[in-house]
Amino acid sequence: MKTGIYLVATPIGNTGDISLRALEVLKSAAVIACEDSRVTKKLLSLLGISSRDKIFIVMHDHNEAETAQKVIDQALAGNIVAYTSDAGSPLISDPGYKLARLCRAQNVYLTTIPGPCAAICGLQLSGLPSDKFLFAGFIPNKNKARTEALSKYKDVESTLIFYETANRLVKTLSAASAVFGSREIAVAREITKLYEECRTGTAAELAEYYTANPPKGEIVLMVAPPEEKKTADYRKALAAELQKNTLKTAVKNITEQYNLNKNEVYQTALELKNGR
Ligand code: SAM
Repeated sequence: MKTGIYLVATPIGNTGDISLRALEVLKSAAVIACEDSRVTKKLLSLLGISSRDKIFIVMHDHNEAETAQKVIDQALAGNIVAYTSDAGSPLISDPGYKLARLCRAQNVYLTTIPGPCAAICGLQLSGLPSDKFLFAGFIPNKNKARTEALSKYKDVESTLIFYETANRLVKTLSAASAVFGSREIAVAREITKLYEECRTGTAAELAEYYTANPPKGEIVLMVAPPEEKKTADYRKALAAELQKNTLKTAVKNITEQYNLNKNEVYQTALELKNGR
């Protein structure tokens, strides 16, 4: 096996999802760089790989800039170096990007050992269009930032994929309801684990469901793309309504005619009135 850096994907819940190549690299690596050595040592133990003769370098979000060079130096010293995050594919809402960038800059051998990625697994389960998608990582936790982050992607014509945590899900769905209205949302939870589920509905329906059934575990939240034609049609009709009716009446008429979310139509009416 060549010396250099191997970006090794690990399971997101089911240990059986480790790949043959990942096993081979983790066994052969003299050095393992990882987010949390306790997590990685536990995985190695489950895989029957001894940690005893390996050097562990902890590289996480807060020290990647300083630590990446140490990791590269191990490769330059003639070692096989594996980098794993706690779970899933390194670099995807996980550290590793700066390491990869330094490898390119210093012409260090870098390769990927692909495997599970929660965003892709969620998309597969969602039944939402998968021909085009935008992965937007974690949704901010503060109310204003959350709504701004969701609104930024509102008009993107592809499925949106976000990472979310169980305790924030209901708040996020409530914010998503005001932004995305009647668009279909999918919540994929505990993928590859015992209680894997994927639930779809409008954001308001899902907020109601998860208020009554507080979720546990890890979550991928996805939003269907806007219906281009319907959006264009209803904006045109709303603009015409606004010419002849009050804002309130125009919103009411269009909401009923197009079977849309009233808040969404109201926001669009305000945008149209303000000339946007
Ligand atoms: N790099 C990882 C990957 O490729 O899947 C993601 C790491 S990110 C720090 C962790 C987030 O991924 C979780 O908060 C959750 O949103 C999502 N996630 C990870 N495992 C998951 C699972 N089994 N089911 C659903 N979502 C999961």
